[in-house]
Amino acid sequence: MRLSAIAFIAIVVVGLLLLFGVINTRDLSTAGRMARANAKAMERQALSPLYVPEKDIANAKICCQNLKLLESAKRAVAEQANRASGTVSWSEVLRHMGLKQPLQCPAGGSYSLNQIGQAVTCSIQANGTASHADDHNIRNF
Ligand SMILES: [Zn+2]
Repeated sequence: MRLSAIAFIAIVVVGLLLLFGVINTRDLSTAGRMARANAKAMERQALSPLYVPEKDIANAKICCQNLKLLESAKRAVAEQANRASGTVSWSEVLRHMGLKQPLQCPAGGSYSLNQIGQAVTCSIQANGTASHADDHNIRNF
């Protein structure tokens, strides 16, 4: 008899907590919490077309630094070789930079040295988003 009374009280207490919103059934599951985190991210994105995940901005910054290093090396090689047009090879650029391995885009893009006078590019470029914070290019370098 006493055990059933305790069980009854426990059920009433949980029922009241749910009723007054102190605990939420959605909070009780990890899936529910994750779904709400995703919904919040989607909400931020919907509110601002310029919203970009932090990781994408960090990757773009590293990529742009790489592009500037590559472009500087490319210009130096072209100048030393008295080339005002045409191309500079990867081996010339890497030798100038003292590297054995080419620089890698952290987001998996691939680099093109392009013609002399045209900036080095990453295949990711502006990646179709409205924000420039995640762009992989050095247009005004
Ligand atoms: Zn890139």
